[in-house]
Amino acid sequence: MNTSLFGIISEDIRFKEGLSACMNCGVCTAICPAAEFYDYDPRHICNVLLSRNDSSIEKLLEEETIWNCGQCLSCKTRCPRGNVPGLLIAVLRELAVRTGKFTSTTQGCQQYAVKKTVGDNIINTGYCVHLMHVKPHLHPEQGPVWEWYYHNAESVSERLGANYNKDGAGALRKIPDEDLDEIRRIFEVTGGKSFFETIEKFARDKAEKLNKNMSDTLEYDEFFYHVFVGANQK
Ligand code: SF4
Ligand code: SF4
Repeated sequence: MNTSLFGIISEDIRFKEGLSACMNCGVCTAICPAAEFYDYDPRHICNVLLSRNDSSIEKLLEEETIWNCGQCLSCKTRCPRGNVPGLLIAVLRELAVRTGKFTSTTQGCQQYAVKKTVGDNIINTGYCVHLMHVKPHLHPEQGPVWEWYYHNAESVSERLGANYNKDGAGALRKIPDEDLDEIRRIFEVTGGKSFFETIEKFARDKAEKLNKNMSDTLEYDEFFYHVFVGANQK
């Protein structure tokens, strides 16, 4: 088994699909929406990977830059060589999680918040985003109308013909236990469960280092709030 960072990356199907040869033209950077907003350069990602240099790759795993990509795959549409820097980013992000290096950066640490919200929501309810999960105090950007809707969800859903949190068919219905078991099984056999456990493990180490509590209940999870608001991780 290949244990060098480049060795692991080079065996990933997304690397094989995403980088064959790069002529350094910079078209990917020119088209990249993330490069407009961040100090981010997809061409640089290609250069680092083509160097096959583990120290440079390791440095990349510890930098914010790999979390700046929006995974829009616009780069795929324009690269004259058919490369897909967005796919390379996906490989690097996974490696950053597997090696625990994601906790070195502010955006990387937010993997924990994503796991605690979207990840746990899917496992526990069958929905990645469900209105009961969009809590107004976590999403002030949704404004007062959302807050009102959140607190009146049942009656509003009924008026709109949804089947909110109830058995049977319809929008926002309760997902039956046997279907949730099937979802959990899918996560087990595809490695999603162990991936979540890896995020939890390294997040716990980081929380201890920062002296922040963690809790199964989101409301009491100090580390969750710390990363959710994008607090500096140093
Ligand atoms: S557009 Fe393609 S060939 Fe040009 S720098 Fe980006 S990845 Fe390399
Ligand atoms: S997938 Fe990432 S690197 Fe590619 S264009 Fe979109 S934001 Fe840029």
